[in-house]
Amino acid sequence: MLHKLRDNFIANLLKQSFQQDDELCLYLISYVSLIFCVLIHIFFLICYVVQEIQFFVFLNCGSLLVYLVVFLFLKGKKYKQGGFIISLEAILYASIGAYMCGISSYIIGYFLLIIVMLTLFPYGTAKLRRIIVLIILGVITLLGLRDAHTPPLIVFSEPFSHFMTMVNIYIMLIGTIIEISINTFVQFIILGVKEGRLVELASQIYTDPLTGLYNRRYTEIYFNTLKNQDQHICVAILDIDDFKKINDTYGHPCGDEILVFLSTFLYSNLRKTDRIFRWGGEEFLIIMENVTIYDAQSVMDKLRNKLAKTEIKTKQKGTLGLTVTVGVAPFDLTNPDASIEASDKNLYIGKRSGKNQVVI
Ligand code: GH3
Ligand code: MG
Ligand code: MG
Repeated sequence: MLHKLRDNFIANLLKQSFQQDDELCLYLISYVSLIFCVLIHIFFLICYVVQEIQFFVFLNCGSLLVYLVVFLFLKGKKYKQGGFIISLEAILYASIGAYMCGISSYIIGYFLLIIVMLTLFPYGTAKLRRIIVLIILGVITLLGLRDAHTPPLIVFSEPFSHFMTMVNIYIMLIGTIIEISINTFVQFIILGVKEGRLVELASQIYTDPLTGLYNRRYTEIYFNTLKNQDQHICVAILDIDDFKKINDTYGHPCGDEILVFLSTFLYSNLRKTDRIFRWGGEEFLIIMENVTIYDAQSVMDKLRNKLAKTEIKTKQKGTLGLTVTVGVAPFDLTNPDASIEASDKNLYIGKRSGKNQVVI
């Protein structure tokens, strides 16, 4: 379940283009921070609505509006600005809260959480972050001095005050855990994205973009996976008859459509264990495991016959017919090139003796 969630998440990240890992890192940290802060303020909002403490209801609505702006910044890939606004909002919220209700130990903890955030997350330059930390320390001192002379403007009921203290302690705890573990989480995701990119690249290298079939480059890798097998393997080369004529008569795009059709036809009419490669322009190489040469001939002949009777509906040129010639040979694992050459020779014989046939 968690693996699936991570894979889906990474697949989504792969669709987006990040310039560098730094950008991806900021993206992840910013969204985690945003989600955490939004959840906290929604929770606070509900608490204050229930307690009918209007001032904090408005204050939390204001915070949520600020987070909407942050979301727009993040959507526009302005992660540094977004993260900076998150820090400022947190400082302002804590300062206003402390001004109205008096400074308490959890508010100081809250400020510390922001200081840790500024230290760990690279929002703004190091100098700017240092200045903000100094401002926070100044604000705490000023609020403390003011508290000594002025009573709080808003006083919570005793049970609500206890409740909010507990809530804030949990927020600090969860916030600290997120801050400490986020780098590990980010590295974990970045690693997954890198792996995904490699897999994507490998699949692009080894597949043909038009048909989606494996290309010639993949054959060597595949032949290596067949080694140590002592079963009969056969190779077939299938070539479309008079394909040039199809291209000349109906146009190249229609020819492409036929190639895609034939790929799907081969894929759905052969066994899942048979491997199909786009060998060249209109030539397909097929490797069949666990078959004698006579089985292979029979399978290919049925396929050829079925294709010759099939009416291919093209998008552009109506219904067309298609025949293929196939050369089949036993596949010798110790000498793949010679086996392919033998099937190619049989294909040539088939072409010379009338096409639309299978030759072994
Ligand atoms: P034969 O029956 O002897 O095989 O004749 P043929 O016309 O099929 O063979 P030939 O080798 O003379 O021509 C193959 C044609 O395949 C020529 C080339 O333009 C076409 N072709 C190769 N790749 C593609 C492709 O990706 N798309 C399209 N539409 N045509 C292609
Ligand atoms: Mg041909
Ligand atoms: Mg050809």
